[in-house]
Amino acid sequence: MSDVRNVIIIGSGPAGYTAALYTARASLKPLVFEGSVTAGGALMNTTEVENYPGFPEGIMGPELMDHMRGQAERFGAELVPDDVTAVDLSGEVKTVTDSAGTVHRARTVIVSTGSQHRKLGLPMEDELSGRGVSYCATCDGFFFRGQDIAVIGGGDTAMEEATFLSRFAKSVTVVHRRDALRASKAMQERAFADPKISFAWDSEVAEIHSAEGKLSGLTLRDTRTGETRELPVTGLFVAIGHDPRVELFRGVLTMDEEGYLKVDAPSTRTNVPGVFAAGDVVDHTYRQAITAAGTGCSAALDAERHLAALT
Ligand code: FAD
Repeated sequence: MSDVRNVIIIGSGPAGYTAALYTARASLKPLVFEGSVTAGGALMNTTEVENYPGFPEGIMGPELMDHMRGQAERFGAELVPDDVTAVDLSGEVKTVTDSAGTVHRARTVIVSTGSQHRKLGLPMEDELSGRGVSYCATCDGFFFRGQDIAVIGGGDTAMEEATFLSRFAKSVTVVHRRDALRASKAMQERAFADPKISFAWDSEVAEIHSAEGKLSGLTLRDTRTGETRELPVTGLFVAIGHDPRVELFRGVLTMDEEGYLKVDAPSTRTNVPGVFAAGDVVDHTYRQAITAAGTGCSAALDAERHLAALT
């Protein structure tokens, strides 16, 4: 079976490119499906990244991904800016179908398709992403020192983000559609005890406003009465959840109760032999570029060992 590859990698974020770099340096000639729309992954949609080690002055997200891409390519990774539309992972040789219907075969597959943060779906939201609107407090909190910030959501993530942001912010307003939080009791108590955090109960964001290309405020709507009021903030953190990109793998790869791929941690092995998963499609705890890159490396090494055991 000369047309059977060693490795196919699905996804081109930090996890996919790192898996590509390691498997390429191991002479496994990986084929990487980068996706047709967002080759480079989530960091293509952001500005400055200040917490990826090795860049003391920070680096723009797209530039960082360009470096990762170039490094993988330099060692022989074959990169294709296309989507995988179907997979058959059952046999010893797996098949992966691209958007033109061409079938590619490989002995191992690394899944690194990432996750998509849920958006509010309001006008201006995309335009102001990285300009006041954020989906990650760990990533961006530092940029909002001394500012008034709103956090949208009522779960554990929202409380964690609000508590984290209160270290930097002048004030944090948690905007929640209901009159009670979904977050665990401990997280709620921490947030309630924080003098910088206040709550806008029974409220949702009706409009996002900008001035000079940056977020300048929100219009909130009362979910019971429909009344509106203005909230002048320069930071908006949307914490209403993430959806892992797992559509291709439903019914085949085991998922946890939140829909993320399950691996045999600390390895990246899924329930199907020869199939490994890395990055945010697995991880709903850390969700950072460095952790995605780290598990991408693990997946490459796991795939390498799996291939060695086959020979
Ligand atoms: P992703 O980066 O999401 O990449 C997945 C890739 O897979 C995408 O390119 C997608 O198109 C592709 N794909 C999906 N399905 C298919 C398919 N069927 N076929 C082919 N390709 C497919 N982290 C930090 O550490 N520091 C930061 O400052 C920071 N800032 C952020 C700012 C923003 C706005 C966002 C959204 C995230 C930020 N993060 C930051 C988080 C970080 O970007 C993610 O944790 C990281 O990108 C996850 O990497 P990944 O490789 O798992 O997935």
